[in-house]
This record gives sequence, C-alpha cells and structure tokens, in this order.
Amino acid sequence: MNNPSSPPPRILVLGTGGTIAGSGAGGTGAAYRPGGLSLDVLVAHLAALGLTAELVPQEIARIGSQDIGYAEWQALHAACSAAMDDPAIDAVIITHGTDTAEETGFLLDLTLPTAKAVILVGAMRPADVVGADGMRNFANAVKVAGDPATAGRGVMLVMGDAVLAVRDARKAATSAIDAFRTFPRGPLARVTPSSLDWFGPTHRFNEPARYAFPAELPRVAILTAGAGMDEKPVEALLGIGARGIVLAGMGQGNAPRVVLEALARAAASGVPVVRASRVDEGLVDRNVEVDDDALGLVAARALGPAKARVLLIVLLANGITNAAEIQAAFDGG
Ligand code: ASP
Repeated sequence: MNNPSSPPPRILVLGTGGTIAGSGAGGTGAAYRPGGLSLDVLVAHLAALGLTAELVPQEIARIGSQDIGYAEWQALHAACSAAMDDPAIDAVIITHGTDTAEETGFLLDLTLPTAKAVILVGAMRPADVVGADGMRNFANAVKVAGDPATAGRGVMLVMGDAVLAVRDARKAATSAIDAFRTFPRGPLARVTPSSLDWFGPTHRFNEPARYAFPAELPRVAILTAGAGMDEKPVEALLGIGARGIVLAGMGQGNAPRVVLEALARAAASGVPVVRASRVDEGLVDRNVEVDDDALGLVAARALGPAKARVLLIVLLANGITNAAEIQAAFDGG
C-alpha cells in the first residue's frame, strides 16, 4: 500500500497499440483496427477514473502486435532502461496487443534489470465495444505498478484480474476475455482496481539484466511437426540461412525419425536446435523419447515454442551457440 502522505506513484506508460487501443467496432460490431486510439486518449479515459497515480505517456507505436518487431522492441528496451535510471519514474506499464505480449514481455524479461516493475497490459475486446475489458485491465495494471512490492518479480502481464509472470504466460484462446494461461507456475497475484493480493514474496529482487539486448535479430525459425512430414522443411530452413531452429514437436517434443535426423544434422553443422512442444502445456525434458545426448539437441523444458524462440534469439545474439550452454539457459529459472 502507498503511504497516504507520500506522493502518488509516477508511472511511465509506453503505448504500442493492440486491441486495448482498438477502435472501429462501434458498440456491437466485430471488425476493428488494433491501435486505432492514441495513447493520450487511453490515458485520458483512465485519468477520468480518478486513480491515485501520475501517468506519463510515451507512444512507441500504434500497431497490432502481430506486426511488432526489432524496431519497436529496441525502442521499448531503451525507454525501460532509461526509466530504470530515472528517479522520477517508479514503474513502467506497456500497453500491448495480446497476440505477441508473451514474446515482447519475455524479451524484456531477459534483458532488463528488475529494479523497477515493468508490466504489460492488453485487452481482448476493442475499446469501443460493449463489455470492453481494456480499461479494467489498465486500471488493474496501475494498481500493480503502484505497489512497492511489485518490483523484483521480472516482467509481468496483467490480464483478466490476474498478474502473470511473462515467462510463464501464453495466450491460449483467440477471443475469450480470460485468454491467458500460465505454466509451470500459476498467477503471481490477483488484482482488481481496489485490491492486490500477492501469492508469494519477490523472487528476483534487484537482479541485473540476464543478457545484453540483441544488436540484431538472428533468424530463428519455428518448425511445427506434423504426422507424415519429411525432412525437406528442415533443409529449406537451412537453405534460407536459419541460425537456429525451434521444433514445435508433438507431445514431449517429438517428430518423425527423418525429421529428427535432419535436425541432428543441422545441430552438427552449427545451427542449434531446441525441442519444444506444439501441445499447450507441459515440460519437454531431455532424453525421454528423443536421445538428445546422441542427436545434439536441446530440450525447451517449460517454455513453449514462441518463448523458446525468443530465448534462442537472445542467446545466439549474445554469442552462446554451444548446446550445453543453451540447455543450461533453458534449465535456469
Ligand atoms: N491482434 C491483436 C494484437 O495483438 C490482438 C489483441 O491485442 O488482443 O495487437
């Protein structure tokens, strides 16, 4: 809780667009444009709710998060880094589309210190439809950002009255309001605009950044396994210069034998391969059905394909290409 005599928290709000800023559906319609509303309009709506926080808006982009990429990530990372060093800013909220919130959030989680809270917030319904969830989520995010016990938990996502660690979060529904699931941990907290209950203490207090922000994005592709497929897609990825491959495998990261053999050849030629699962949830462990030791592959453990790709990009950009070192990074917290 904030001390009533202390000034309200000063929160940097970085806008990127997404459905939380979506408009055009006109009350009961379906079609809309993500990022149709400017960040200033969103922040003005929020300020009208009378929250005890000072919001400092900075628009980075007004796009659907399916179009987010290196330029926006670099701008977000630079703005968050500056906020870490700015004594006038207490925390950062990023308004973001939900399609890739887990990717942006995890990239920042890997490359920012934990001294101040960084919180992503999105919505499943555009701002101008009946039952829009964006303002509720945004007000919840302000509640979280204003709490002194928020920093030191890594980058978080606030959706559906819950606070999720982005490392654990994944979008599991295309349109339901309660679209995110977490694995292996459950939510870090429950939140409403008037209450916040953490389920545990901070676990990453004052950590430095784990990795340097990538100077460029090495090409890392996700290959989804399917029954009856052959090795040609692996060869095609090598042909376009993939620097790493994430397998979205069946079950515990499985693929047809010819595909695994092709992936082993890729790994032997210096293109690291991480086995994740196309299944929604569960661990992919080493040497269960696939002999990772013999094939030179890495097991993604709790990370799904999208976040496994982000981690592999960060590792390769930091010069970490050895399978054992990559495995250690996937094993570590
Ligand atoms: N496609 C939208 C986006 O990711 C969906 C959303 O925001 O929920 O920007």
